[in-house]
Amino acid sequence: MDSEAPGNSIKGIDAVLAADVEADVSTDRVIADYTSYGIGGPGKLWVAPKTEAAVGRLLKHIHTARLPLFVLGGGTNVLISDRGWNGAVLLIADNLSGWHFKDSQVAVQAGTLLMDLVQATVDRGLAGLESMAGIPGTVGGALRMNAGAFGQEIGTATVAVSGFHRNGDPFITTGADIDFGYRSAPELENVVITSATLRFRQDRTKPLQRRVDEILSRRAARQPLEYPSCGSVFKRPPGDYAGRLIEAAGLKGTRIGGAEVSTKHAGYIVNTDRATACDVYRLIDRIRAVVSERFGVQLETEVKIIGDFSSDCTVG
Ligand SMILES: Cc1cc2nc3c(=O)[nH]c(=O)nc-3n(C[C@H](O)[C@H](O)[C@H](O)COP(=O)(O)OP(=O)(O)OC[C@H]3O[C@@H](n4cnc5c(N)ncnc54)[C@H](O)[C@@H]3O)c2cc1C
Repeated sequence: MDSEAPGNSIKGIDAVLAADVEADVSTDRVIADYTSYGIGGPGKLWVAPKTEAAVGRLLKHIHTARLPLFVLGGGTNVLISDRGWNGAVLLIADNLSGWHFKDSQVAVQAGTLLMDLVQATVDRGLAGLESMAGIPGTVGGALRMNAGAFGQEIGTATVAVSGFHRNGDPFITTGADIDFGYRSAPELENVVITSATLRFRQDRTKPLQRRVDEILSRRAARQPLEYPSCGSVFKRPPGDYAGRLIEAAGLKGTRIGGAEVSTKHAGYIVNTDRATACDVYRLIDRIRAVVSERFGVQLETEVKIIGDFSSDCTVG
């Protein structure tokens, strides 16, 4: 869980950051509006850089002020506390997006929507990401999570990743030096990704587009896309599926407040009716306890739990 260090003030630092012409800076912006769950309190300081150079500059100020930092991409794999984030939220989304193809490689900015990139590769007859059609969020978030589906992961296509360390120093690494694992990329855990180079195989648009269409309809049939969610809440335990265990434990349809274990896919917790972060958090706890008791399996969350859940969210 990412949580803030206590006692850091934004007084003064907001004005310093706002003076940077290559960034939009504001205070107390509601993070819920930037997440697929539609959940989350205010971000004390909201920083949306428009260039990669600005990211480095802003990070130096944030680091010097010792403000807790949270990097937000598309907000599709996060559960943000109802209390929000008592520090700086650095947005890397459409404010920092775009790509440039050269032969079978692309240089892409981290805030680009993965779905847009997938379609652009397919349109060019480039294979490697087509099975990831339908995964929401940004390229930066996908790299950090090593997002994947139906046998493909973004890590496999990654040639290089660049960005900044949290202190604002530049960061660059090759894909081969990242130990990409199942929904993990340890070398990317504490950096801010601003761009990447990905490599593809030459193929033909028609079969790739057919694969995309097939995957999108499979997703629509199996996943509760009609409700706000973060996708699969839990990682797959070895040799099994979280959804299967949750369903077998009789938890499908279980509700806490406005949060519900999806009746369509038990691996999802959906926000059916103005769920709070606490509702989802408590439901996660309930699921983990019941699955552990019934099957002896400790489910690990895939969703990143961000901010303070300690004082107002104790499990009842
Ligand atoms: C309906 C639905 C279906 C989904 N299906 C899948 C699926 O099939 N496969 C799959 O893998 N995932 C799936 N997901 C989860 C999610 O879409 C992916 O994990 C996605 O890659 C997260 O990207 P994001 O930009 O939204 O990241 P965010 O949710 O914004 O952030 C996720 C993590 O990445 C970090 N991060 C984000 N951007 C950066 C950056 N630029 N630099 C450094 N760190 C960064 C954040 O700090 C956070 O720790 C699904 C989600 C939904 C809602």
